[in-house]
Amino acid sequence: MVQTQCLGENLYAFFDGHVRQFLLVGPDRALLLDTGYDRSHLREAVRAVTDRPVQVLLTHGDPDHAGGLVDFDEAWLQERDWPLVKAPVKLHPLHQGDAFVCGDYRLEVVEIPGHTYGSVAFLDRGKGLLFPGDSVQKDGPIYLFGNHRNVGLYIQSQRSLLALAGEVHTVYPCHHDCPIDPVYIGRNLEDTLALQAGTLPSEPTPGMPCRTYRGKWTAFYCTEADRCRTAGN
Ligand SMILES: [Zn+2]
Repeated sequence: MVQTQCLGENLYAFFDGHVRQFLLVGPDRALLLDTGYDRSHLREAVRAVTDRPVQVLLTHGDPDHAGGLVDFDEAWLQERDWPLVKAPVKLHPLHQGDAFVCGDYRLEVVEIPGHTYGSVAFLDRGKGLLFPGDSVQKDGPIYLFGNHRNVGLYIQSQRSLLALAGEVHTVYPCHHDCPIDPVYIGRNLEDTLALQAGTLPSEPTPGMPCRTYRGKWTAFYCTEADRCRTAGN
């Protein structure tokens, strides 16, 4: 069951206890950031908030974010994550710097590959809001194992986000604590550099083909092979 929370003027979050989506409501349309699982049936939760047309933007293509596309006709997603989408929907590309205006909100696309190759964040510079998908989290775990993830790219993207952190007042992650302070962007980078350097303690993750690496601020699901992947491979 999805719970609806009002985060601010015309800004809502939907949360099922695991993953969160965000809804921005403007005078003639609404923007929905992510769609949850295929079983989330988010359209009903959205309709309880607004009857305006809804444009779906995705932070990335993992099934807990794009699975709910089964209830929608089209969505905007960075092209490198299109192969992850199972639902038969029309996809439109997202590019660095694309902007989506909705009432007082103006969301700008920041490409942050790493968690997936097509991951993006949405940044509202005017309001100081950052929607980083799964790429910035307090506590974690942040998934960084498997073929569609890349630790080297993830570190580059964390540096890009850190360069923008001065313009951010509030970070809205899709998992775990929300909202969080932008200081966690730098903390996330610090922990990921330690992951790459091999200095984080780790243990096998029950039921998953990976290990859990515990940093000072967040944790990662990764493997010894994946933590060494550089941006070029
Ligand atoms: Zn997720």
